Amino acid sequence: MLKQCLLPLAATCIAFSGASNAFKLLGPSWEDGNVTYDTSFPGSTPAGHNWSSAMRQAASKWGDQVEGLNITFTNNGFHACSGYVDEFPEDGNQNASGFYHRACNQDFGEDVIAVTYSFNFGSFYTESDIIFNSSEVWSVYDGTPQSALDFRRVAVHEFGHLIGLDHEESNSAIMAPFIGSIFNPTADDLNGARDIYSPATGGGGSSSPPTIRASIEEPSPSQTASGITNIRGWAIGLNAIQRVALFIDDKFAADIPYGGDRSDVGQSFPNYQNADRSGFSMIFNWGILDPGEHTMEIKVYDNAGSVHSERTNFTVQAFNTAFVSDPNSVEILSGVTITDPRTITLDRVRVNNEEYRVILSWNTASQKWDIREID
Ligand SMILES: [Zn+2]
Repeated sequence: MLKQCLLPLAATCIAFSGASNAFKLLGPSWEDGNVTYDTSFPGSTPAGHNWSSAMRQAASKWGDQVEGLNITFTNNGFHACSGYVDEFPEDGNQNASGFYHRACNQDFGEDVIAVTYSFNFGSFYTESDIIFNSSEVWSVYDGTPQSALDFRRVAVHEFGHLIGLDHEESNSAIMAPFIGSIFNPTADDLNGARDIYSPATGGGGSSSPPTIRASIEEPSPSQTASGITNIRGWAIGLNAIQRVALFIDDKFAADIPYGGDRSDVGQSFPNYQNADRSGFSMIFNWGILDPGEHTMEIKVYDNAGSVHSERTNFTVQAFNTAFVSDPNSVEILSGVTITDPRTITLDRVRVNNEEYRVILSWNTASQKWDIREID
């Protein structure tokens, strides 16, 4: 799962370079450019602006200007947090949004006003939900930011994530990580969206596709990593890919074996060389890292000298030993609880004579119950 946050306006202006093609892509896209979005969003501003229609206007600012991107609205009352928290069961990949005091099953985090959660299978999105922080004061207006936040421009930004745009830090853009006086997608924002959905007509001047594209699928951003698991993703280039290198906390760690079967990527990017053989993956022992937050960077090199980088953050959960060699030194002593339908808590686990509390939760990316917490 990918999570993108939007922060309120910083007191200073965001510097921009004026570069015309500075947009960044998240990687996945909606198959055939088709997005169905549920806008049953009850209520309105004190001035009578309906949230639901503001949401539709925000989405249309992309859909109306990007050929190949087709957004259809429904009104079925789907809950944005379905499948994330117990009280809202899985709704079958429905895209929805709402005002909530928590970002579904987690806190928003300091100063975060809205969050977009996206799920993908291979290179296509399967679901994306937008959660607005109900503890903020919201309104709907254009122009200079006022004390109440403009719901519609935040929705334009979050919809940008939903269709596959990442934050844009080097240019003036609605996809900047902070909300500001921009309330419409800029030319650069639209070029990014057209790069994804209208390759035939080109991105209004950005018709050349990126030289290298890559995606880290595991660990997914902000995911916890523990034990010995996979690092996995794909990388494609207009020129042949020569090398995929792994950096942990900005230090070179290993070259990752490249060339795995990815017919899904090949179908999505027919203009790239050998895209159907673009998988990379390796086994990694997270236990050699200290518990806590780390950064991972994948650098992709092609044979024409271009380099592309993808970064993600993850949290390592580990026992106080890098590798437990004796299985007899691992013992579940007591307290096995089903915390929620996808979470198991083991209150007392002994590993090498030390006791821990361990939480296991279902991880869609790895298709198994993974260790989420070790206390
Ligand atoms: Zn954002």
